[in-house]
This record gives sequence, C-alpha cells and structure tokens, in this order.
Amino acid sequence: MTMHQPPPPTRAQLHEQACVHCGGEDGELVPAGHVYTPTSATSAPLGWPVVAHQSCKEDM
Ligand SMILES: [Zn+2]
Repeated sequence: MTMHQPPPPTRAQLHEQACVHCGGEDGELVPAGHVYTPTSATSAPLGWPVVAHQSCKEDM
C-alpha cells in the first residue's frame, strides 16, 4: 500500500494491545518503535510505544 497519509492508529494500537500494522490483537506482539500523533500546530507530537507481529514488521 502506498498512502501518503495513513489512517491514525486506533486506541488499541496506541495502547500496545493491537498490531500497529494490521490491527490484529492475536498472536505474539513485539515492540515496534513509536508512532507520533499530532496534537496541534503549536505543541510537540505525542509519542506512543507500539507493538506489532514479527511477520508484519518484516513486511515493512
Ligand atoms: Zn500484524
């Protein structure tokens, strides 16, 4: 997929409960870095530690 603006992460993804790539909550989830959600033009983005399936990470 080539999207310039991917959809914002879901609440589950931001809370390390779902794969940040496919959204799946099953299987083993491993740390996958951080995503940053914009807050406003005048404040810094929020950083969230996220998790992903190993296989999804390898597809990146
Ligand atoms: Zn996944």
